[in-house]
Amino acid sequence: MNSIPSFDLSKQYKLIGDEIRAAASEVLASGQYIGGSTVQTFEQQFAAYTGTTECIACNSGTDALFLALRSLQIGAGDEVITTPFTFVATAEVISAVGAKPVFVDTDLHTYNLDLNQVEAAITDRTKAIIPVHLFGQPVDMTRLMSIAQAHQLWVIEDCAQATGATWAGQRVGSIGHIGCFSFYPTKNLGACGDGGAITTNDAAIADQLRILRDHGQKQRYLYEAIGVNSRLDAVQAAILLVKLHYLDRWNTQRQAIAGRYHELLQSLSGIMIPQETEGGQSVWNQYTIRVLPPEAGSTIEEPHNCRDRVRQQLQQQQVGTMVYYPKPLHLQPIYAELGDRAGQLRISEQLSQEVLSLPMFPELEASQQEQVVYALKDSLG
Ligand SMILES: *Cc1c(COP(=O)(O)O)cnc(C)c1O
Repeated sequence: MNSIPSFDLSKQYKLIGDEIRAAASEVLASGQYIGGSTVQTFEQQFAAYTGTTECIACNSGTDALFLALRSLQIGAGDEVITTPFTFVATAEVISAVGAKPVFVDTDLHTYNLDLNQVEAAITDRTKAIIPVHLFGQPVDMTRLMSIAQAHQLWVIEDCAQATGATWAGQRVGSIGHIGCFSFYPTKNLGACGDGGAITTNDAAIADQLRILRDHGQKQRYLYEAIGVNSRLDAVQAAILLVKLHYLDRWNTQRQAIAGRYHELLQSLSGIMIPQETEGGQSVWNQYTIRVLPPEAGSTIEEPHNCRDRVRQQLQQQQVGTMVYYPKPLHLQPIYAELGDRAGQLRISEQLSQEVLSLPMFPELEASQQEQVVYALKDSLG
């Protein structure tokens, strides 16, 4: 039996390595490493791909979110609503601009922000909502936008895990006021290093973003705002242009893999498979199941012990898995002062004890999936 990693970038490189090397070589020979036509072409093509008029490339998904908040002048005294069940960057940037993250609990079946609870969290300090299309699955953007419109709030989509996903036929990143993308290597569209992008249909916001990512200058050496240095370099842009052509194919492969997991796992007791929201098309950055705690009274095992035991047994059978995320953000040391103590966002806390992400990457073979499922059945007993 061969080992199955939770993610394997080497297979993709084997398939398209020649193209990537050729594209990178061309940039290396050109001497134009920062800015220039390759970065511009990527911005144009990525805007076209997401269905927006503007794309501003930057250094990372984290910077994309940070710059988005700055461009809307969100800062001290403001509140931003988001989920505690996400990668730290989503909330970290809210704090970094001086605003306060307000965490709203998640939905047990989709793992996304529970839209039933958003309105109750809105105050007169609330300026924006950051929905996260977690694991590739889009949030119900129709409903979220109508809540935001009713309260005149900005919506910044965290699309880091969902490049190519659609809601009601529209790509994520084109529905809210601003979309933020990460090209971290394991995302659906991954660079060979760091990278990010911001999309919008608002030309004035786009202007602000371009100024902020370049030291706050519109005109060279005239600084109008305190900006940052956040660029996508030309080598990464060239690599991303190659990969952008494959993105839809890879996402379709991920969808087929998810479909196969659904089929193989749906009748298995002791776990729950992820549920899709009707109207959304996930691009399955992760396939994340819940390992359910044992029936009450049948054993004294704690739920997280149950998930962790299954994970360990899978590891012994050479199946790699990941836990995204083992501790929700409201319980992290950095947010101790917010006073959201254990028990307040119960679904997120429950998910952090139960979730287990199975191997998922476009090149994962059917026989490998069967091996994963076989090992999982075995470890569930
Ligand atoms: C990866 C990720 C980010 C940050 O992206 P980087 O490019 O690593 O800075 C932000 N939000 C979510 C949900 C992510 O998964």
